[in-house]
Amino acid sequence: MSQMTAAASTKRRIAVAVSGIAALALLASPLPTAAASAATQSAPMAAKSHTAKTVTKAPSKATTKVATKATAARTQAAAAVAAADYSSIFASQQPALTNSGWATCAAAITWTVDTSGLSADEAATQIANLTWAFDQWTPASGLAFQFGGTENLAYDDAAFSLKPANGSAIQSRHIYLAFIADGDSARLGGGTVGLGSPSQVWPTSKEIITGAAVFRTDHVKQANAREDKSLYMHELGHVLGLAHASETSNIMYPVVSDHTDLGTGDVNGVRSMNKPCNQAG
Ligand SMILES: [Zn+2]
Repeated sequence: MSQMTAAASTKRRIAVAVSGIAALALLASPLPTAAASAATQSAPMAAKSHTAKTVTKAPSKATTKVATKATAARTQAAAAVAAADYSSIFASQQPALTNSGWATCAAAITWTVDTSGLSADEAATQIANLTWAFDQWTPASGLAFQFGGTENLAYDDAAFSLKPANGSAIQSRHIYLAFIADGDSARLGGGTVGLGSPSQVWPTSKEIITGAAVFRTDHVKQANAREDKSLYMHELGHVLGLAHASETSNIMYPVVSDHTDLGTGDVNGVRSMNKPCNQAG
């Protein structure tokens, strides 16, 4: 009986907190993502063909054994580094919120997107690419996502916020996305082609409940499909609570390429930050 009372009072506290947006912590500094330079893109290709050539050489039996052992040790060490290569987007700016993550509820996290600046065909293509990018994170994170349609969104560059342009309330467990022109943001331009961040977090449970990401329209239009998908996966990683990684095998590496596989650090990071559903706010 006393337990039931305690549970009820906890629930009441949550309800009160939900009604006041001031109870939520806000993150106002998204992390920028740089476009891949031609040099960065061509380097892995060159390394790959070099490796292929080396393999065709037939070394002596003894050399093979030693080389294999050394290579295995190196590979293992590199894999361990990549697996631990993740951190919370809050760690440096808002340490109290470090390791905040989304709750793994059965009800999907919804997302809407403002496709202004794209033609109808381009919008359809990019919505498909975004859906694909969300789908890559689902098995890794245990989070379900659902497209909620296109929506006119107002972008505030200084606050880095996206909200419904018609004044309707910001949805909870929702991600707002927008394609914006270079000139609409002092944060974009140069090599910076995307930004992403959680927007609202419950400080006690460290549950992220809204997030936002923007993509530079001119970049998305000229990039190929793999590069666009890679950019979307990366910004969604920020929305899910991840900061930048230092290993190129992780999608959270800050230079966008045409790499579209999550790395072990990405997977371990998002898993470590996710929160159980129905935790007290
Ligand atoms: Zn980034």
